Amino acid sequence: MRITQRLTGIGASQTMMVMQRAQELRSRGIDVIDLGPGQPDFPTPDAVKQAGIAAIDANFTNYTPAAGILELRQSVADTYNRDWGTRFDAGNVIITSGAKHALFDACMAVFQEGDEVLIPCPYWVTFPEIVKICGGVPVEVPTDERDRFILSPDEVSARVTPQTRGLVVNTPNNPTGAIIPPAHLAELVEIARSRDLFLLFDETYDRFTYAGKKHTSLAASVRDSDEAYAIVGSFSKTYSMAGWRIGYCVGPKPLIAKLIEFQSHQTGNPTSVSQKAAVVALQLGAKAFEPMRVEYERRRDYVLKALDGINGFRCPQPDGTFYVFPNVEGAMKATGMGNSHEFSNFLLQEARVATVPGSAFGLEGYIRLSYATSLDRLQQGLERIRSVVS
Ligand code: PLP
Repeated sequence: MRITQRLTGIGASQTMMVMQRAQELRSRGIDVIDLGPGQPDFPTPDAVKQAGIAAIDANFTNYTPAAGILELRQSVADTYNRDWGTRFDAGNVIITSGAKHALFDACMAVFQEGDEVLIPCPYWVTFPEIVKICGGVPVEVPTDERDRFILSPDEVSARVTPQTRGLVVNTPNNPTGAIIPPAHLAELVEIARSRDLFLLFDETYDRFTYAGKKHTSLAASVRDSDEAYAIVGSFSKTYSMAGWRIGYCVGPKPLIAKLIEFQSHQTGNPTSVSQKAAVVALQLGAKAFEPMRVEYERRRDYVLKALDGINGFRCPQPDGTFYVFPNVEGAMKATGMGNSHEFSNFLLQEARVATVPGSAFGLEGYIRLSYATSLDRLQQGLERIRSVVS
């Protein structure tokens, strides 16, 4: 069978592969501590679950409009208007089957063969793959551990060529937890405006920031006249609804109208029942995500302290998400591992702890650990790592 060129360069998501490998070992009765997961370990809030059940009971189980139900689109717009002083309405919003889907829709609309798209590195595994599927060429923009992986506008400027069409900004960042400060964000917006770049802004982890650090949305900077941006968000992490598959894209109306046309031929619409549940999630707001944020902060502080005591680990402080991204070059050397993939495998085999190698995010010498796992399991996992590395 012939597979298209579009898909031959695409591999399975390495984060998902780690989850699978950990699952396989567990099914053989092996106690694996999974520090790989990219999803909350909290249940979906009860009121949200009840809204989903009520939607099924009320037979709200048919197609919805391709753009999503008006009530949810308007609620997303209202949330932005309240938080960032924007003047969005439902016409600025499309509901999608998760943020991943929103990113894919937006890239399909604006990138084509040969377009260069700047992607800060390390990056969430899916960004370069989506750009490639759309015919674009991902161009890495390095960030540095010494700057706590905060994206430098100068590094972005230096990589703009006549072929550059877009810039991906993910803040708080997966995998590093870095938050782009407002002044940097303002500079990035200016670069995008002056160099005619499409700004694809992913704020999937916007509600999970720590130690008083705050996230700034691109929404705070957009003008009514801006035509080339998309703000993507997700219900997966904020409301612990990963399996419900609801995300959204907020943007200028002509772009959103095109995405709606595309979606009408693609998934048709996001799941009806999940949309009703998502309306209630937005009504809950901070009541749903703040308790998770507080618990993540407690775990983050613990993990940073514990990693400090492991030989060959050095961890820059993350300000957001639920990941840490330690430099493990010293530990790799001490254990004779040649790269982060080998080191992750070593940790899985020897310590029975699942992690994701930095290479999955485009950067060697690091691993990603998720603290979306109970404090108890984190303590056990980090102790196991400490003992096999020492
Ligand atoms: N964007 C980033 C940066 C992510 O880390 C993830 C999931 O891990 C997503 C998007 C996808 O979220 P969703 O479950 O809404 O598709």
